[in-house]
Amino acid sequence: MSQRRTCSCPVCGQDFALKEGISPEEYFITGFISLYAARQKEEQLPCPCCGENSMRSTVTSNALSRHGDIYICDACGAEEATCPKPIKEWVLMKAFLNPKN
Ligand SMILES: [Zn+2]
Repeated sequence: MSQRRTCSCPVCGQDFALKEGISPEEYFITGFISLYAARQKEEQLPCPCCGENSMRSTVTSNALSRHGDIYICDACGAEEATCPKPIKEWVLMKAFLNPKN
């Protein structure tokens, strides 16, 4: 498939192109991280990992996820330090990857 497809970010509605050679899911995750991380700096968003409004108001005082330059709440940060969850298991990521569930 060489057809270019785009995917819309469910957070900000911004479109991004799906590249070849990378699965849409993988690309979506990368895109999600960078868009969500940029948005986190501008406004207080729910924790992308647990989906709760448990983030500190200063984004940089939250835990930095090992999945990328994206902040998660302290509870998720502590959990990730001991028992890291695959990013596909994050609440927001699951909702976006499987909108029907
Ligand atoms: Zn959390």
